[in-house]
Amino acid sequence: MLLLKSVKELKNAIKFYKTTHSSVGFVPTMGALHSGHISLVERCKKENDTTICSIFINPLQFNDKIDFIKYPVTIEKDIEMLINSGVDILFLPDKKTIYPENFNSIEFDLEGLDNLFEGEKRPGHFKGVANVLKIFFEIITPDNAYFGQKDFQQTLIVKKIVEKLNLPINIKICEIIREDSGLAMSSRNSRLNEFQRKNAKFLFKILNELKSEIRNGDVKNSLQNAKNKINLVENANCEYLEILNRNDLSPIKQNEYLNKSIIIAAVNYCNVRLIDNIFI
Ligand code: AMP
Repeated sequence: MLLLKSVKELKNAIKFYKTTHSSVGFVPTMGALHSGHISLVERCKKENDTTICSIFINPLQFNDKIDFIKYPVTIEKDIEMLINSGVDILFLPDKKTIYPENFNSIEFDLEGLDNLFEGEKRPGHFKGVANVLKIFFEIITPDNAYFGQKDFQQTLIVKKIVEKLNLPINIKICEIIREDSGLAMSSRNSRLNEFQRKNAKFLFKILNELKSEIRNGDVKNSLQNAKNKINLVENANCEYLEILNRNDLSPIKQNEYLNKSIIIAAVNYCNVRLIDNIFI
């Protein structure tokens, strides 16, 4: 695996790979890798001749400074995992490489999608995501880029960015990888202690119960019951729990809920934000 830190080196390597291989796939991450990230890498490897992964903790997408400072860093283990999974290039830039002193962030018209749910709870988050992805996409010019359904709202935003910038990149969405308990894997789970991490399975369990309940009953009541169940868990606070249209996160009407909808949730549990979703 090539480990590259500068844009020039990366561009040269990509030029070389593009002359000898046909397709380039890209997996952006913020490190502290787990099996969820590796599942993206594995799919990317299957579908492309060259797999490029990046690790960059993007300061622009953190609205909460403490969350940024406390974001887990496990770079040596990450490098080992990426070598073992057969990544061709790891791009590991520092902050100045991505955001030189003269950098000005861009406003994207994300058609309001950036102000809902995660965007509302984390103001500026999606603007930061959009800016860093624009930079990565322009440097790497991948044919395919891989994102997790775990961050479902982000996948819609990424598709919008690619559409607005008119970039010839296919956005591929990969299923959520879970711990045995059902808890969606996340780098931030490492902030939970062993007991809390086991207990955090409550969220996936409640989402599944809600999914079966709404099939036979009143959507509004089932949603409220599920919120109550979450809030009854010690140290858990439901930030949002909604059943929405999967295409644009618009509200769904009663009776429409079985068709192309999604349940999305964010819960603050022991000061860690758990986000999860399931398709209906
Ligand atoms: P992050 O490092 O958190 O920015 O995540 C990098 C990519 O991995 C994003 O596209 C995430 O949606 C994806 N990802 C994170 N957790 C999981 C998971 N449990 N299963 C599948 N993909 C994931």
